[in-house]
Amino acid sequence: MQLHELVNTIGQDLQRRYGEKVHKLTLHGGFSCPNRDGTIGKGGCTFCNVASFADEETQIQSIAAQLSDRAGEIARAKKYLAYFQAYTSTYAEVQVLKNMYEEALQAPEADIVGLCVGTRPDCVPDSVLDLLSGYVQQGYEIWLELGLQTGNDLTLKRINRGHDFAIYEHITLRARALGIKVCTHLIVGLPKETKADNLETLRKVLEVGTDGIKLHGLHIVEGSTMAKAWKAGKLEAPTLEEYVDIACELIQRTPADIVFHRVSSAARRPTLLSPLWCENRWLAMTEIGRALDKSGPQGMKVAQPFEYTLPILTADKIVN
Ligand code: SF4
Repeated sequence: MQLHELVNTIGQDLQRRYGEKVHKLTLHGGFSCPNRDGTIGKGGCTFCNVASFADEETQIQSIAAQLSDRAGEIARAKKYLAYFQAYTSTYAEVQVLKNMYEEALQAPEADIVGLCVGTRPDCVPDSVLDLLSGYVQQGYEIWLELGLQTGNDLTLKRINRGHDFAIYEHITLRARALGIKVCTHLIVGLPKETKADNLETLRKVLEVGTDGIKLHGLHIVEGSTMAKAWKAGKLEAPTLEEYVDIACELIQRTPADIVFHRVSSAARRPTLLSPLWCENRWLAMTEIGRALDKSGPQGMKVAQPFEYTLPILTADKIVN
């Protein structure tokens, strides 16, 4: 069986609900990040080099110019979700956000059925929730993509996220109560974390409730704080086998109605330092599909209790 027959993917979820293909169209709002500009922190998350996933040139183009540049791509499907991915896409005055989101939603070039807005859980004030819930009331599909990465507060501190699990929980509950769908971003392979930490993170995320999950392995990228530790031999990224094993376990423990926006992601050299297996965007997906085909699909382990044979990261396990 193929991956989409074993995992409830966003592509198939959208196809089922809209009766046709709906693509995510990545747009750049030219946002900054409060964890880089000193508002919350400086230097950013230790894994982050935004240049690894954002085209700086595109970021400064207007939404209209980006849409016009991508007319060829837009012609390939009928419906789109406008995806504001780079940096912190709620980090601006609410009127600025309103103008930008509505420029996308009302674009004549494409039938935009909604928004996916990537951000930090501590950057979603009531004014932004109200703005987004207004679009929900107008019939748009709105996804708030929250970068949580891990549910372990010790790890969140070590990777300099600048927020804790509690704020993620608070915003998720508020957003979902307003009809805004939440997609939770998680990373497998963060420093000092074991498979048990990933499972415990999933347990906490499911307990709070979410509509979607986006999963990827740790990428060590040039320009990030982690790159220095990796070059000094103090940090390793997960192997393909480790990643596939943990991703499958997480998928099988996730209820079948939760949508996976991604089960792995790709990056390219020279920005990517490690692991090089993620240069091939299909490799992990193929291996995950193969493993799930043998051991069972998404949701097959939801009735099993979360029991850990490996240690969960606690303060006494941190030596640096
Ligand atoms: S990962 Fe996101 S929140 Fe962290 S520094 Fe990068 S852009 Fe900011």
